[in-house]
Amino acid sequence: PELRDDDLKVVGDLGAGNGGTVNKVLHKETGLYMAKKLVLIDAKPAVRKQILRELQIMHHCSSEWIVSFYGAFLCDVHVGICMEYMDRRSLDGIYKKHGAVPIDIVGKISEAVLRGLTYLYDEHRIMHRDIKPSNILVNSKGDIKICDFGVSGELINSVANTFVGTSTYMSPERIQGGNYSVKSDIWSLGISLIELALGRFPFMNDDDQDDSDNDSDLEEMRRTITGRDDGQGRVVEDKKPKQDKPPKPPRQHQQAGGGGMNMSILDLLQHIVNEPAPRLVPAGKYPVEAEQFVEDCLRKEPGERKSPKELLLYPWIVDSRVTKDDLERWAISVD
Ligand code: ATP
Ligand code: MG
Repeated sequence: PELRDDDLKVVGDLGAGNGGTVNKVLHKETGLYMAKKLVLIDAKPAVRKQILRELQIMHHCSSEWIVSFYGAFLCDVHVGICMEYMDRRSLDGIYKKHGAVPIDIVGKISEAVLRGLTYLYDEHRIMHRDIKPSNILVNSKGDIKICDFGVSGELINSVANTFVGTSTYMSPERIQGGNYSVKSDIWSLGISLIELALGRFPFMNDDDQDDSDNDSDLEEMRRTITGRDDGQGRVVEDKKPKQDKPPKPPRQHQQAGGGGMNMSILDLLQHIVNEPAPRLVPAGKYPVEAEQFVEDCLRKEPGERKSPKELLLYPWIVDSRVTKDDLERWAISVD
């Protein structure tokens, strides 16, 4: 029988993103906990019904690397999506609370995402489109699964802020508006892996800046990147001595998401396209196998980037000694 909103009782709050809010709910009949995501769809009823139809594909997505789907329904201006409840939630929350993820665990996260991507592509010919730490979920059994993949074209079109929410993990070719493929998901994976290993969003730190032209743009860049986010969304002033120049008016455009610097989204997109890809830093801190893997995820030319299947054969993945028990222990520790 189709799942209905009336069958569910809200028991908790799991978070909110650009596209919607997520609650922990109890399926009254079975006693099963689920995660219910409500996505606000500002569109005609016909479009909402189309989205609902497209979401039904998820009933056929069944893999240990993919968060299970229980059903979707219309609920006034929202589309409700019910999925498997993952009791350690997403990796962004985990690293923001517990700090950088140990590199060997990051290796297993890579493997899980690659297996999930391979499943989606081989079985359903779909790419994910939104790989990032908040869409990689963990439970206390040590399972790692991906969610929020782009099954419904109408849903992608209808969610108001898709661009802002996802742009910071976007590959250069996607930013430039060209054709893109699963290779674009691999770029997003590479960015996510660095973020988890470093415990911070990888773009822009002081070493990244070049001092070639000392014009006002560079000055403005400096100014915008020295105000750092404290992780609670507030911008913290740097301890550097204040300059005498009057401050410039704040930028009008959107701030980049992804939990990092106070850099405008346009600056960030330009940076991704024009500058060398980020790496695991400092060099030598992490195993060379991890460095190599990340570097090959972040080839700027999509043709040179590796595919999920190729990456699954990398020594970092194949030679990993992390067991399921280790993953479970780690998952239990990040409560
Ligand atoms: P964006 O809207 O930019 O994609 P997001 O992925 O954080 O960001 P949502 O997908 O709405 O936004 O999810 C909000 C939060 O809810 C996530 O960060 C995650 O921690 C939590 N969450 C989502 N799905 C589940 C789930 N199935 N089980 C447990 N927690 C979940
Ligand atoms: Mg999400």
